[in-house]
Amino acid sequence: VFCRVRPPDRGGATSKSLVRVPSNQIEPTALELLPVEGAAQAGPAASNNANAKGAKFKFDRVFGEASSQEDVFREVSQLTQSALDGHRVCIFAYGQTGSGKTFTMEGASGDHRGVVPRAAQQVFDAARDLQSLGWTYEFEASCLEIYNEELRDLLPGPSTKLKISDANGVVTVPGLRSAKIVDAASLEALLNAASKVRSTAATKCNEQSSRSHYLFRMRLKGRNATTQESVDGELNLIDLAGSERTKESGVSGDAMREANAINKSLSSLGDVISAMGKRQDATGRTPMHVPYRNSKLTHVLQNALS
Ligand code: ADP
Ligand code: MG
Repeated sequence: VFCRVRPPDRGGATSKSLVRVPSNQIEPTALELLPVEGAAQAGPAASNNANAKGAKFKFDRVFGEASSQEDVFREVSQLTQSALDGHRVCIFAYGQTGSGKTFTMEGASGDHRGVVPRAAQQVFDAARDLQSLGWTYEFEASCLEIYNEELRDLLPGPSTKLKISDANGVVTVPGLRSAKIVDAASLEALLNAASKVRSTAATKCNEQSSRSHYLFRMRLKGRNATTQESVDGELNLIDLAGSERTKESGVSGDAMREANAINKSLSSLGDVISAMGKRQDATGRTPMHVPYRNSKLTHVLQNALS
């Protein structure tokens, strides 16, 4: 689990950072939330409040606000590379709306490119290098949105109702469109098309993209003509819906239902990850039940997560 600190808004009133990342480490793993001035007088709960006292958190790696897209990608690149060896990889961006999830995953052009285009580029480059060893790869990408526990295909085409199929533990989404991608340009075209479909659908339903989960999935099929080996890997890069709490956003009605669906799938994701962690620790024979089916998000990702 990595934590990335977003730089404060330019010109914002709170230019003073309330997050401290230790500066004596090259690859820091901790961060500290500093007390908010005046918060100690904010009421009886304040002495119990992380904001009032300051609090320390540990992660596998912390990226301070000065960290670049390249810094972040370098840390996940081994994971994305392993998809070429046939692994099923999942990377999630989690956080409140505005915390930098989309910036981190998609990013902008040039040096601001995010994990998705960088991962794809890495895979294209690596596949080219593997050609000399007899490997040929084919790449296919899909873009999927999960909104209110419904799946939506983001590649252009007739709108169809998507359902998850689960046959003998192999979870697929029949009918989900995919497109061949061969290089950065074809990936960019695909992402642009997906983003158009996404915003059109969102406008129709009056929803915001921060309320849905966005999944970029790339399938990597490789064959070695010399050794007859083959691999079938998958890269899942997920920009999760905002993690803000319903209680704090003061919503009701449809917005409440929407927020509950988001909270449900985020907490299901937490449940799945925690059950997986326990299962790994366990030495007993009976594998612990992992509740993949409790949300569309975890169900769609079941094969990769397990
Ligand atoms: P989210 O997807 O979590 O709602 P965004 O990625 O849209 O958040 O980020 C909110 C705003 O902050 C955007 O304008 C984005 O460009 C900017 N931003 C986020 N992270 C960074 C960063 N590390 N450096 C510079 N700007 C950032
Ligand atoms: Mg976003």
